[in-house]
Amino acid sequence: MSEQKQQTYKLKITGLVQGVGFRPFIFVLAENLKLKGWVENRNDGVFIKVSCSKAEINNFIGEINKQAPLASSIKKITISEIKFENFTNFIIKKSKSSSNAVTEVSPDIAVCDACLNDIKVQKHRINYPFTNCTNCGPRFTIIKDLPYDREKTTMAEFEMCDNCKTEYTNVYDRRFHAQPVACNTCGPHYTLHYKCNYITNTKDITDIVSYLIEKGSVLAIKGLGGYHLMCDAQNENSVNKLRKLKNRENKAFAVMIKNVKIANKYAKISEKEKQELTSWQRPIVLLKSKDKLALSVTNGLKNIGVMLPYMPFHYMIFEKLKTDAIVLTSGNITDEPIIISNKEARKTFVGKVDAIITYNRKIHNRTDDSVGIVVNKKLRLFRRSRGYAPSPIHTKFKTEGIFAAGSEFVNCFCIGKGNQAILSQHIGDLKNLETFEFYKESYNLYKKLFRFKPKIIVSDLHPDYISTKFSENLHMQYPDLETIKAQHHHAHIVSCMAEHEIDEKVIGISFDGVGLGDDGNIWGGEFFINDLANYKRFTHFEYIKVAGGDMVSKEPWRSAVSYIYHYFGEDIFSNLDFFINGIGQEKVKMYLQILKNNFNTHKTSSAGRLFDAVASLIGLVNKAAYHAEAPMKLESVVREDIKELYTFSINEVISFKECFMEIISDIKNNIDISIISAKFHNTIVDLVIETAKIIKQETALNKIVLSGGTFQNKYLLSNIENKLTENKFEVYTSSKVPSNDGGIALGQLIIGAKRRVL
Ligand code: ZN
Ligand code: ZN
Ligand code: FE
Repeated sequence: MSEQKQQTYKLKITGLVQGVGFRPFIFVLAENLKLKGWVENRNDGVFIKVSCSKAEINNFIGEINKQAPLASSIKKITISEIKFENFTNFIIKKSKSSSNAVTEVSPDIAVCDACLNDIKVQKHRINYPFTNCTNCGPRFTIIKDLPYDREKTTMAEFEMCDNCKTEYTNVYDRRFHAQPVACNTCGPHYTLHYKCNYITNTKDITDIVSYLIEKGSVLAIKGLGGYHLMCDAQNENSVNKLRKLKNRENKAFAVMIKNVKIANKYAKISEKEKQELTSWQRPIVLLKSKDKLALSVTNGLKNIGVMLPYMPFHYMIFEKLKTDAIVLTSGNITDEPIIISNKEARKTFVGKVDAIITYNRKIHNRTDDSVGIVVNKKLRLFRRSRGYAPSPIHTKFKTEGIFAAGSEFVNCFCIGKGNQAILSQHIGDLKNLETFEFYKESYNLYKKLFRFKPKIIVSDLHPDYISTKFSENLHMQYPDLETIKAQHHHAHIVSCMAEHEIDEKVIGISFDGVGLGDDGNIWGGEFFINDLANYKRFTHFEYIKVAGGDMVSKEPWRSAVSYIYHYFGEDIFSNLDFFINGIGQEKVKMYLQILKNNFNTHKTSSAGRLFDAVASLIGLVNKAAYHAEAPMKLESVVREDIKELYTFSINEVISFKECFMEIISDIKNNIDISIISAKFHNTIVDLVIETAKIIKQETALNKIVLSGGTFQNKYLLSNIENKLTENKFEVYTSSKVPSNDGGIALGQLIIGAKRRVL
């Protein structure tokens, strides 16, 4: 091969190629292939120069793609032939920072198998719970600034011992330039606060923890991106104790299970679900529960959130535990952000939990566990945080300088850098004061980390969103900033389009709970014809009048009464004892009065309210204990073999009058709620297909984009996606970016990029 003509090639590799062991990988590969030249990290990518034959360079690129480190992701390799240079060896050049452009910041990576083995065999790492290497370990959670060097992480205060230093500087070592490298001699350590004792020996800690868990204790434990609360998932009493502690009466808890084989005991797991569970991101995956854990873990829902161990310490405690499943839920009280500081943890948990497991490496950036569900063989993220954030979404637009403030209830924000959209980790409900603090802190962190200077602010149409108000304050401080408003559902659809790099006119369908429309009403059952910059509302669910502001989504019975009143007037209520008695005659009477008087009422086309209404009407949920409880419970009871559906009509708007009439008659005929729920879901599936056909006929558009929180419903999404595909539509759905309000900021940012003047 070396007989062939030698030529010098320059490669530029972009994507997630820093902090994931990419340079040593290239170095070792080049050495194995006997290539000469160099590799260099720059802030805008990895650069390589080699002199070799055409065949050799092709082979080299092939091997790079084939063998690239697990957590890396190559976006693009550009190759150019340059003037011949003669190299004598292959070297790693010192990092160079050439502009304000930045490469990607790696998310945190679950501990790798090689490190788990080191804990058993490597002398200075026996039982060392912070073992990591270039292929695994903490990243984003410990980063304070770029470039990614130990000095700029919370590992800075730990000085490497000679052993670690040798590994860190040896290019053939798995820990070459692994910034958080540490061992028993030099690294951070765990401490168990139990009663008045502070125990620091890891073996003692795991022994005591296992004893406490077996006894039924609830413990606080510091994780990678924040504290968790944990207890035995097989012990009904412990789980209930944990519920009380968290003020969480009803909502399901996620569990961590020892390994994927054992997870099969507790949940049905497909090949794809297994792949996601064991991926280096280690998300919580919602699986079909086999109901073999304490029943209060899922509290009646058919899905259970399962994750596998991702820190060395998780593996170490499972080795000692008698139980093979623990509840591991975010360490906070109710809706506050998860706790990250040791001081705060002591303040909050002492006296409430039986023991606190902590360690002395600081968490700089809070990240929750990510959550997703596999639908039609694709993981759909509901919460994008640990393992995913802050990986960028690549776009072909100029995004530099755009700040998208996001939504309110499930907030993430997004900043634009070059052509990238960097979506923040899950922030949460901004109405909570502490969460809003977290929002502001994170915005400042991203500004610093990504050298971000805002030029354009995009926010929701809703004037009362805290994110909107934050944007307005920003604008007051910097009047030169351009401001752009994005409609909520348009942003939902554009978010999904951005994920699939679609830049043309589409049929956009957005179903969710609440979003302000440009007519001042609350939208949420929307059919658009839209592109990235603009939208036209084609049709929508018929408006109904609801009363009570925020109470409407918290009390699904309000939607039920509103729908019935809207379609059938007041008289029908005398025939609905089965429904009224569950709420209270007086309450219903009063609500009807309020509706008639237009007191604190608004009109809504929300799909969320429609699902609420049906769930309440069939007696499932009148008062929601947590967000979207009614739609979730409604989905949970669906009998999947039922193919029938109810009647609906599509005129100017989509009416559910016949549908409600038929549901009421089914209830009166004692039809089981599992059948009613299935028929209702099938109705929504069918009306989407029928409406799509009408729009296609009028516009000749064939691409359909689905987004909005309602599409977190697995039965609904899988059926709509499949049936639209059967009907020859090209269907696009959210996967990497949440279809709920956590994905809104990405849509806002792209709308901004399309409409920007500056
Ligand atoms: Zn490792
Ligand atoms: Zn060391
Ligand atoms: Fe929404």
